[in-house]
Amino acid sequence: MSDTTFSNQPLDLEPSAAVLANNSRFVPGGLASVNRKSDPVIAFARAQGSRLWDVAGKEYIDYHAGFAPYILGHNDPDQIEAVTAVMAAGLSNYGSGPTRDEGELAELFLSCVSLADKVQFFNSGSEATAQAIRVARAATGREHVILVQGSYNGNQNVVAFNVMTPVEALGKQVIGDEYPRVPITAGIPAAEQELAHVVEFNDLAAVETMLARYDVAAMITEPILQNIGVVKPQPGYIEGLRKLADDHGFVLVFDEVKTGFRADPGGFQGLTGIRGDLSTYGKAFANGFPIAALAGKSELMDLVVSEDVSKRVLLAGTYNCHPVPVAAAIACLKKLRDPALDVYGHLDGLAQRLEDGQQILFDKYGVTATIVRQGSAHCAYFMDHAPVNWWDLASSHDFGFDAKFRRELIERGIYNFPLPTKQGSISFAHSEEDIDLTLAATDAALHRLLE
Ligand code: PMP
Repeated sequence: MSDTTFSNQPLDLEPSAAVLANNSRFVPGGLASVNRKSDPVIAFARAQGSRLWDVAGKEYIDYHAGFAPYILGHNDPDQIEAVTAVMAAGLSNYGSGPTRDEGELAELFLSCVSLADKVQFFNSGSEATAQAIRVARAATGREHVILVQGSYNGNQNVVAFNVMTPVEALGKQVIGDEYPRVPITAGIPAAEQELAHVVEFNDLAAVETMLARYDVAAMITEPILQNIGVVKPQPGYIEGLRKLADDHGFVLVFDEVKTGFRADPGGFQGLTGIRGDLSTYGKAFANGFPIAALAGKSELMDLVVSEDVSKRVLLAGTYNCHPVPVAAAIACLKKLRDPALDVYGHLDGLAQRLEDGQQILFDKYGVTATIVRQGSAHCAYFMDHAPVNWWDLASSHDFGFDAKFRRELIERGIYNFPLPTKQGSISFAHSEEDIDLTLAATDAALHRLLE
């Protein structure tokens, strides 16, 4: 559990700027993932439980959670013990033959994600989502893929389109048809681009239009859009996708890299009982260690060992199921499933406390805000309703206020990623004191901004 003390020293960005400048001499942009570059740039030096410390020594209560993996908190003691034990025991990444640990992890994983029959492991979410689409194409013999505006599904060509797309690039909201495709990277061949079709979230009619127009192999979507805050499916939407997939024989892929294990050990599918044909995982299931998964129906998963070479899908990776992240994942899943710990009850209680407190403060200062939350994943939108899709969000949310609010909180030692609409995550290491300190800082931040 966290400290009840909190040293609120002033924000000093100079030492962080020096780290970035130094790194930039060798690494383009100065950091290993451009998504980590934010305004302000803060270089962190240490983390424990719910807390972060930057290179100037300033302490923060962390709600960024490294883009959401840390569900138990930073440096969870049981996980560190498990990882250390594996290294001390002389395990290695042998690169030949199966290991008992990968089998143990798979069994434990499927006891959580009980709607899936089988699982494969990778090192990153992007590998898992790319593999999902490859499996879908192999299984169906079709090539087109439906994507959803505002759903981030990784860095690979097949999915790298339309996330937080500026409304000017979209032109107008499109319901019942596809958006212009806006790649989020240069370098995707035109022929590949033509296979991607982006539709609005919560728009079943658009999916039907795509099915009438193209030979669709797969549709991939986050079942709750958690890369643009927390945007939930409308009643009937996910059921409608399931029915369309059944009727038209395309592979429905739920990208649960963020929703997986965050609000329930079974992810979105565990909460709703609605099954994707395939689903992808990462982040929370190993509490910050690099491992990801693809899970789903046997007939799709078994294509990696298909006797029919024309359908056989490659599953290969030097570091797949490296013993360190495997040990970390096993330790994490055991804790997530432990009824005595009641991780999800704890998370939900804290998230409710934060939500209630934030709502009181927004009311006190007359701020138009709608808090959306799925368990410990939360986002305050500065608009008068919960967004139903990206266009709704992009055209209603007060991005300027959101940016200023995040900055004021950072000054006061509360770290949410400083990009408007980014989701906050609470961990098992957070305490009621953390929430109360956060609310006190929120009060002060709103006072500064509005009075
Ligand atoms: N899918 C979703 C829903 C994600 O949020 C992310 C990462 N933010 C990915 C896929 C890609 O995962 P990774 O960054 O581990 O490649």
